[in-house]
Amino acid sequence: MSRTEQVIRQTEAYSANNYHPLPVVIARGEGVWVYDVEGKRYLDMLSAYSALSHGHRHPKIVQALKEQADKITITSRAFHNETMGSFLEKLCTLAGFEKALPMNTGTEAVETAIKAARKWGELKKGVPKNQGEIIVCENNFHGRTVTVISFSSEEQYRRGFGPYTPGFKIIPYGDAKALEEAITPNTIGFLLEPIQGEAGVIVPPEGYLRDVRRITKKNNVLLILDEIQTGLGRTGKLFAYEYEDAKPDILTLGKALGGGVYPVSAILSSSDVMDVFTPGDHGSTFGGNPLASAVGEAALEVLQEENLTQRAQELGEYFMAGLRRIASPKVKDIRGKGLLIGVEIKEEFGTARPYCENLMHLGLLCKETHHQTIRFAPPLVITKEQIDWALDRIEPVLK
Ligand SMILES: *Cc1c(COP(=O)(O)O)cnc(C)c1O
Repeated sequence: MSRTEQVIRQTEAYSANNYHPLPVVIARGEGVWVYDVEGKRYLDMLSAYSALSHGHRHPKIVQALKEQADKITITSRAFHNETMGSFLEKLCTLAGFEKALPMNTGTEAVETAIKAARKWGELKKGVPKNQGEIIVCENNFHGRTVTVISFSSEEQYRRGFGPYTPGFKIIPYGDAKALEEAITPNTIGFLLEPIQGEAGVIVPPEGYLRDVRRITKKNNVLLILDEIQTGLGRTGKLFAYEYEDAKPDILTLGKALGGGVYPVSAILSSSDVMDVFTPGDHGSTFGGNPLASAVGEAALEVLQEENLTQRAQELGEYFMAGLRRIASPKVKDIRGKGLLIGVEIKEEFGTARPYCENLMHLGLLCKETHHQTIRFAPPLVITKEQIDWALDRIEPVLK
């Protein structure tokens, strides 16, 4: 039995069956490359759904992790630590928000945003107790906790996990008029992704986010943008909302904020919203810990020093043009922004899964999303030559 088979058997014997990974066992990684247990090399074009925007084991981020690990790792928020304030100052300054609240995973950031909006609704907007309503979009993906799956429109994410958390209303994505009609005096927030990643890299119509910003402002409804996947350079802007000047009232970040080495998430907002939290209201044992903060700060520094946002813009255009040039009759649509790109396969040519398996055999790792779409989201440190290398493998698989 090969080492790969051995590991997969062991994993399947002891782990819950909640994932369907490609049959590759990754042993190490560097930059855009990973190596499996047999020593075969692959170009990582999923980058852990954007968590690896900086590439695998970026030396400066690993260095920050190691240096912090040699000093102090966890303090809990019962005490102050030296690194959290510095990290949050950097994050707020870079992003242009007054306050940040650090958590660990993306889902927790979304939960935190919901709690902030609900309390803001009661305290500041004057919505009657327990009546605050948050509007969300069809085909959203905001995580996997019970509250978050309560407003998913994906049957499989919900089935068997009820009872569900009330207080959410689902409207179609990309339809500003639907938002206008859904708002009531009890509406406190509108939560959405500027591009729906998990739904298949769905880019809303031009002008949508601008309209959404205008409508929410007019109705005193908080605009909550989930940029856990699209944020920090991925789409060719620091945040995808910049394309339409739709700065939200609450922004959720995660994934790339951890620099590819550690889970770090946060919400960013104004003092007006963030001040609804008082000691004891909300928290996390690990949120804002010294290790996370050191890593998060290093991740932001690398993002700036290496112009990763600009790279995503330029290389995204280059990659997209290369994909279009392949002009395969099997492809229904190619869409995305920056280095977040979806290639949708026509249904008569099967699902996207076998295409991803074929790419894997050729040394390129990516993953299907929503049956028909291959998502390409390589580390932002990728080079033109590496994109050419990938296109040479994508072409025969699509044709
Ligand atoms: C990944 C993701 C989340 C959830 O993040 P986790 O770290 O997996 O909890 C939430 N929202 C969006 C848009 C995501 O892509």
